[in-house]
Amino acid sequence: MRCPSCGHTDSKVVDSRPSEDGTSIRRRRECLKCNRRFTTYERLGENPLVVRKSDGTSEVYRRDKILRGLYIACAKRHITPDQINSVVDDLETELRNKNYTEIQSKALGDMVLQRLRNLDEVAYIRFASVYKDFKNVDEFNQAIKGL
Ligand SMILES: [Zn+2]
Repeated sequence: MRCPSCGHTDSKVVDSRPSEDGTSIRRRRECLKCNRRFTTYERLGENPLVVRKSDGTSEVYRRDKILRGLYIACAKRHITPDQINSVVDDLETELRNKNYTEIQSKALGDMVLQRLRNLDEVAYIRFASVYKDFKNVDEFNQAIKGL
């Protein structure tokens, strides 16, 4: 991302959130050279990412949906909105780098879990219980033991 003021190519992200239509990410950036702040809209790849659910139905990937799940999982934990946003930023970077056009919802959930595991164990368990569709208590206990 090139700074509109001085043309410098290095900037840091100070805020990111989904656009109103959910198809792109609105980022506030700060130029590392002149400190000017500017806004970019970044699409998630050329084509929307399709998330295939276990029952065979599919839906378009939506950042706000992942964020909502994370906020629920992180409720009352010492985790800042910045940390939650960077989990999703990191996830989307990997999705973009791998050029996925379709992903199983379970695989997507696993990618979130990998990141959450490093952040907070309780949030990890909560998110896992929502997204992994634990079929029985044993599976849930296995996940806890795996921590
Ligand atoms: Zn600049």
